[in-house]
Amino acid sequence: MRDSHSAAGVQFRTTPLDNTGVPHILEHTVLCGSEKYPCRDPFFKMLNRSLSTFMNAFTASDFTLYPFSTQNPKDFHNLLSVYLDAVFFPCLRELDFWQEGWRLEHDNPKDPNSPLVFKGVVFNEMKGAFTDNERVFAQHLQNRLLPGHTYSVVSGGDPVNIPDLTWEQLKQFHATHYHPSNARDIASDVRIRIALKLVKQLLQLFTICTPLGTYQCLPQTSPILILIFFPLALLNLTFFLLLMFFFLYLEISPSTRLILSES
Ligand SMILES: [Zn+2]
Repeated sequence: MRDSHSAAGVQFRTTPLDNTGVPHILEHTVLCGSEKYPCRDPFFKMLNRSLSTFMNAFTASDFTLYPFSTQNPKDFHNLLSVYLDAVFFPCLRELDFWQEGWRLEHDNPKDPNSPLVFKGVVFNEMKGAFTDNERVFAQHLQNRLLPGHTYSVVSGGDPVNIPDLTWEQLKQFHATHYHPSNARDIASDVRIRIALKLVKQLLQLFTICTPLGTYQCLPQTSPILILIFFPLALLNLTFFLLLMFFFLYLEISPSTRLILSES
């Protein structure tokens, strides 16, 4: 039976080398307006005027994905047009960067004598993420197992390092990563003609460039000691599953040792 939902998406290889969360802040900022749709937050405006059955965006350790689905052919065309313009031709305004990334603002915006505090959508999101016990453990485990690799940094951004990111660096990351040569366009077979037509028009505006290099895991030549401090009070199923994963890893890499310490 044919699925009545038509899905499509754009995916980029995004491989950060620091903890500023640049791919995550970029994921938020490209959805704040583009050349063809310069209005405020076209992505969120489509949420209540489209017949979409799914709309979202994700930043992972080494890729960023913008997927959607709908059952309506016209809606599919509209959404793909908004998505493609958002990722390839975003406005990336400075105010959008301060809103989505980080900024200093008075605790009480109406009182200039109140203390200055860090604010920002991604900054606050990641502050919340780092209060999750298992998230802290999983993040540190991944980062320490693969030193020198893109997996050794926090792609979502560490709140301690997010304020190191500048607007210029954000625009530079977009220029070097959001190019068709570094992208995959995905579309379900039902609407493939619509998707191919839009993507073909888009490709005429770009010239082929060499995709960014992939990162190789350096061969382990000496033992790695991984010391992770985090509260052990909130043990649950996820934590045990992660431990099992680690012990499986030990089988193939006996030179790695893990020490868990209660902070
Ligand atoms: Zn986010």
